[in-house]
Amino acid sequence: MTAEANVGVVGLAAMGGSLARNLAHHGNTVAVYNRSYGRTEKLIAEHGSEGEFRPAETLEEFVASLTKPRTAIIMVKAGEPTDRMIDALADLMEPGDIIVDAGNAYFPDTIRREKAIRARGLHFVGCGVSGGEEGALRGPSMMPGGTEESWTTLKPIFESIAAKAEGEPCVTHIGADGAGHFVKMVHNGIEYSDMQLIAESYDLMRRGLGLEPAEIGDVFEQWNATELDSYLIEITAEVLHQVDKKTGKPLVDVIVDHAGMKGTGTWTVQSALDLAVPVTGIGEAVFARGLSSQTELRDEAVKRGFAGPDGSLNVAEADRQAFIDDIRQALYASKIVAYAQGFNEITAAAKEHDWDIDLAAVARIWRGGCIIRAKFLNRISDAFESGEANVSLLFAPYFKEAIENAQAAWRRVVARAAEYGVPTPVFASSLSYFDGLRSKRLPAALIQGQRDFFGAHTYGRIDAPGVFHTLWATEDREEIEA
Ligand code: NDP
Repeated sequence: MTAEANVGVVGLAAMGGSLARNLAHHGNTVAVYNRSYGRTEKLIAEHGSEGEFRPAETLEEFVASLTKPRTAIIMVKAGEPTDRMIDALADLMEPGDIIVDAGNAYFPDTIRREKAIRARGLHFVGCGVSGGEEGALRGPSMMPGGTEESWTTLKPIFESIAAKAEGEPCVTHIGADGAGHFVKMVHNGIEYSDMQLIAESYDLMRRGLGLEPAEIGDVFEQWNATELDSYLIEITAEVLHQVDKKTGKPLVDVIVDHAGMKGTGTWTVQSALDLAVPVTGIGEAVFARGLSSQTELRDEAVKRGFAGPDGSLNVAEADRQAFIDDIRQALYASKIVAYAQGFNEITAAAKEHDWDIDLAAVARIWRGGCIIRAKFLNRISDAFESGEANVSLLFAPYFKEAIENAQAAWRRVVARAAEYGVPTPVFASSLSYFDGLRSKRLPAALIQGQRDFFGAHTYGRIDAPGVFHTLWATEDREEIEA
């Protein structure tokens, strides 16, 4: 086989097949390989005329069809299959060649794989890809890690297929080894909180105000013309307008209320715990999905018939529109908090792993192609660009003012929801985070006292340097310098 393909894709299921077609649509000559050849044949039969494909029946043929430095993008099942494919490719490739894992890998795996492949003289690039199958085909947001050298080769290829936002390709070199997959992971975490916030808003309008799904769909459509303009708000309106073909009921009413998850939200929270960065919005969103799927526990709780309000918010007809507007503001404020927390997590990880991550560029590449694409990411990238958001996105004047303006509405929504029994875990925890952040003094002082009491963990004093311990077991409880 002659080497003619400037890039290759291994794994031609939903994601890999779409990515290969996208590459071919943009002038690349694409080598394609799949474990079972039937999938390769199907791709060529159905889409072979869309561009230049070089189908390979064996991995050896696949590698031989690539021009040097060879670039192979792996899009196979995450975990063990990905490890095996990386090894098989590395055995056939030469120093200087590039292996890209564009699947959803946990970033410590990417760090491990990069180290092992680097030792063999090859480049390994963990690349987050967002946008699902449609994004892979029409233009995803791409978050590659790996070396600067590999980026030189990958840049024109990735820029050709990435989504475009205001003319700019939604791809940038994020940083070394696992940085790309880390940022993709946090993207997914933010997606969890975005979705949960929208779901909480829906719940407040549905059982809280008694609106029908289609009416709520209209509200989301209107919100999409405000600062909340985003892909997730747009598709929410569509889902809520959908009528079930079988029963004639709103589709949302016949869907089982258990939210699934594949693990990236959980990873985001686990990593945040390791870094000691509060990501309360993302954490509560993951837990809310968990609770929704605890069927037996929920059924049992309903059966026990706990006394309490039923979730009707008791808002007078005349005040309904004003309350809907309060929900919109609460959603916006909570969303800003979730993004601020997500970016804090990236900052902490960059410090820990010595990644040089440009947060403004991250916000820019999330403006198109990915699931959390939203108009306000322009504001976020401006805030990082100017340095105003370096410590927290909440400190940038635009967002500080936005939160201050939304604050009264946000409190009304959380208070009313708590009083009348609508769960709002992300609205409420985001507000608590905000209040904790702006408090001059926190009750953590008492916790330090307790810790010193039972474990001699010591404490600091506000009026003197040093470390202190109170002799709690003695009668006069004297303080000593520890
Ligand atoms: P799947 O995750 O369903 O994986 C199927 C592909 O993996 C097939 O090509 C299959 O080959 C191949 N495969 C499975 N096991 C092996 C093995 N042991 N050796 C070689 N090949 C194997 O495909 P998707 O397209 O959904 O996803 C691909 C990757 O992209 C995954 O890592 C996923 O996490 C990630 N991703 C998916 C997104 C999505 O929306 N679906 C979004 C972003 C990332 P065969 O045909 O022979 O069975």
